[in-house]
Amino acid sequence: MNVLELIEQAKEAAKYSYSPYSSFTVGAALLAKSGEVYLGCNIENAAFSPSCCAERTAFFKAVSEGEREFEAIAIVGGKDGNFEIPCPPCGVCRQVMSEFCSFDFKIYLGTDTDEYAQYSLGELLPASFVLEE
Ligand SMILES: [Zn+2]
Repeated sequence: MNVLELIEQAKEAAKYSYSPYSSFTVGAALLAKSGEVYLGCNIENAAFSPSCCAERTAFFKAVSEGEREFEAIAIVGGKDGNFEIPCPPCGVCRQVMSEFCSFDFKIYLGTDTDEYAQYSLGELLPASFVLEE
């Protein structure tokens, strides 16, 4: 699976976004080392704090189905499904990624075109909190 295919899947996932309050549509496609791809969208709530990001939706779906190792995630996000600029993951999602992924985990931020930004988890969350044994 190449990067643009993974980003295309993130765009498909964004179509299911439940975002009646912000109209900010987000989709994520998480590639596990098994080769399976798990999709997620943002899911808002009238009480706001129960809302969940697309990235965490994808991770929790994958982990709840037994996946523990991941290669990469593609993310698209924007107002009213407009993905003009890259949409980086929030801090909470970066922390969730750090629970399961090493610093070389790839994060692709897609746009409406074939342009995308690429980061590693180590770049987006250096010195992350982990419990050392
Ligand atoms: Zn988030």
